[in-house]
Parts: sequence; C-alpha cells; structure tokens
Amino acid sequence: MVELTAVAVTALLSRQAVVTTADLTALGIIVGLGLLMGELTRHVERVRRRFNDTPHVNLTSVWTFSAALVLPPALTPAVVGALYLHLFWRSWYRVRGVRAYRLVFTASTVALAAHTGWLVRELVAPAGPDQWDRPVTVVAVALAVLAYSAVNSGLVAAAITLHERRLDLRRALGTGKENALEYGTLGLGAITALLISFNPAWALMVVPALLVLHRSVLMRQLEEAASTDQKTGLANATAWTTLATAEIQRAARDGSQVGVLMVDLDRFKAVNDAHGHLVGDRVLQAVADTLTACARRYDVVGRWGGEEFVMLCPEVDAEALRAIGERVCERVRELRVPISETGGGAVDRLSVSVGVACYPEFGPELQDVLLAADDALFVAKDSGRNQVQTIVAAIGDVGAPRAPSTGS
Ligand code: GH3
Ligand code: MG
Ligand code: MG
Repeated sequence: MVELTAVAVTALLSRQAVVTTADLTALGIIVGLGLLMGELTRHVERVRRRFNDTPHVNLTSVWTFSAALVLPPALTPAVVGALYLHLFWRSWYRVRGVRAYRLVFTASTVALAAHTGWLVRELVAPAGPDQWDRPVTVVAVALAVLAYSAVNSGLVAAAITLHERRLDLRRALGTGKENALEYGTLGLGAITALLISFNPAWALMVVPALLVLHRSVLMRQLEEAASTDQKTGLANATAWTTLATAEIQRAARDGSQVGVLMVDLDRFKAVNDAHGHLVGDRVLQAVADTLTACARRYDVVGRWGGEEFVMLCPEVDAEALRAIGERVCERVRELRVPISETGGGAVDRLSVSVGVACYPEFGPELQDVLLAADDALFVAKDSGRNQVQTIVAAIGDVGAPRAPSTGS
C-alpha cells in the first residue's frame, strides 16, 4: 500500500509539472552531492548500520528534504531512488537485516514524506523558494519539516509494529537522540535548499559539515554500545564502575553517603533448566526493568554479569538503602514473566537476594563497598535467599571478620 501510494501521489502531483532547466540543474547538484556524500561516508555507514536495532536515521534526508523544497514533485523520487540505491549497493549490502524489499519500502516512505513536505510548503507559502525572505516561507518550511518527519516516522513505526505484532514505542519511534538527529538533518536540508535556490554551487559548503556530523554520530553510537549491556539495556559493569567511582569521589567532597546494592537472582539456573535460555533472558530483562522502576532519579542500575545486578544510590542512609532493597525484593516476588509471546504460562515465584553496603562506612574506595555488599549478599543467600542483608562494619579493626547483622 505504501509503495502504491508513493507512485500514485507522485503521478498526481506531477500532472501539470513544468520542469525547467534550472530544476534539472538543481536535480543534478542534489543527486551529485548526495552520491558524493554516500561515497565518502560509506564505511562509517556500514559500521553504524550493523549495530542499530531502532529505526535507522541516515543523513540522506538533507538531500531528500532539500529536493522536496526546491524541486517539482515529479523529480523528487529520482533523488530518493538514486540515493537509496546507492546506499543499498555501496553501504548496506550484505549487512544483516537489510533486504531489497525493505529498501523499496523505506524509499517509498521517504518519497511520501518528501511529497507531504512539498504539499505543506505549497499550501502555506505557494510562492515557495522564490520568496525565502518572507516570514510565511520560514513558517511553511518549519511545518514541512514536521510533516516530513511525522509521515516518515509514522509509516516506519506502523511497519515495525505490524511486523512484530506488538507496540514497543522505543523500537517503533526510535530514541530521542535518533529523532534529534533526524530533525537536525532536516534543518540542514532546509538550509541546503536555501543555498541551492540562491545558487546551487553553494550547496557544496554543506558537505564538510555533514561529514563531521556523520562521524560524531558514529562515535556516540560506539560509546553507547561500549557502555551498555546488550541483553538488558542497563549500564554494563565497566560503565557502572566508572559512574560509581565518580559518584564516590563526589560524595567524598560533599561528605555525603552512597549506597550500593548487589542483587542476585535466586536459583536462576532452575529457570533456565525448566524453560530454556530464551525465557531466562526474558526473566533477566524483566528483573532489569524492575530494578530500573525501583531506582530513584539519580540511582544507577547496572548488570554486573550473568544474573547479578548492581545499583548505586547516592545520598542515602543505611535505612533508606535497606528500604530500596526491600522494595526490589517485593517487586521481583510479584513478577510474572510470560513463557511465550502468545500467552499461556508464566514464570513466577521469582526472588532475589540483596546485599547492601554504604560509603563511607565500609571504606574509602568503591572496591571496599562492593566487597562489603558482596559479603552481605552471601549472607542473604546463606540465610535462605529472598531477603536483604547488610553486614556490620568492624569498627577500628579493618582486618577482623565481618559479622552478619541481626536483621533491620
Ligand atoms: P543462587 O540462588 O545460588 O544464586 O542460584 P543460581 O542458580 O541463581 O546461581 P548459579 O550461579 O548456580 O547459576 C547462575 C545461572 O545463570 C547459570 C547461568 O546459566 C545463568 N545465566 C548467566 N547469564 C545468563 C544469561 O545471560 N542468560 C541466561 N538465560 N542465563 C544466564
Ligand atoms: Mg543466582
Ligand atoms: Mg550469581
């Protein structure tokens, strides 16, 4: 339907199209610069494409959106077609999950988005790029940005939701950062259109900025991938340790307390054995979500490894820390994780053991606090699991064995 609509709308909008030589020159410049960009960024684009599971924002909308603003609608699909074929052929070829039919679908959504952008601009400011200096044209272009983005994201979100048969907004609409990139790119597209309508040669000036932007986007994605646990989306152990170390340094300056919770799923191996690893993974995700839900705004939740999680709670006392631990235990007990997506059976009666420890009570370094929380976790396991424990710091005798506390 999307593809047929794209063809139909193009035919409809091109009925009384008058294509001038100036239009053809602009078309040549836009396609030429778009292809040049595609060539120059092809390696970065391959890497970016590989580890992205949300709707993929690439920078071609600079060219497709500027085409929508300066070209008659009959020519815009030529820009979309040329740039996406090039991307497919040079950047995405053989990257997992990128298929020809998806390319055709994506190109159709982009063509429809561009046509919608053109229509909005035409309706609000019929004089168009010939009168860029009028305020109404600025408003028209801003509205065209919104319309372009709404149509594009809307169609992609609908396709993903229909395909996966469930609504996951983050998967469907992309992250805030991806959307910010999309708007940034469309803004650059508007500026490029302005330059092209003044004199097409000026558009060349946009290319270096785009190259830098493209690279910085890759850097951000690499940083995120390096600090995130792929299975749960939490901070991984390295990233968590970095954040926790910084937090403890800050607490040392302020003289405040920092709490650490170490959380381990009870008898998790039995879940894997009974239902398989995939269900086990789903349980891990559910516990990760529970921890995130129990966390306060400044708490940092991380996956320590396997079925162990850590939580850093700045500015707490021992009592508040224990209360957070109790809440985690309670919420995990209430969890029901469906065994299959189509319903029918759920993993329940889950529980966690939690060890808690505070800075500076247990030592000047993160390491010391972690060890104390780990000791406390061991005590919790030993005392029957499904509970929060803390240990009593041995005052004045760091080397002495630590005794389990008597409960609250
Ligand atoms: P305890 O109450 O003493 O903690 O028992 P347990 O079974 O939870 O602990 P144990 O250390 O014996 O087993 C941990 C299990 O966690 C074994 C391992 O297969 C499983 N596991 C670790 N990482 C993952 C993962 O990423 N996915 C899945 N599905 N299972 C995992
Ligand atoms: Mg365990
Ligand atoms: Mg464990």
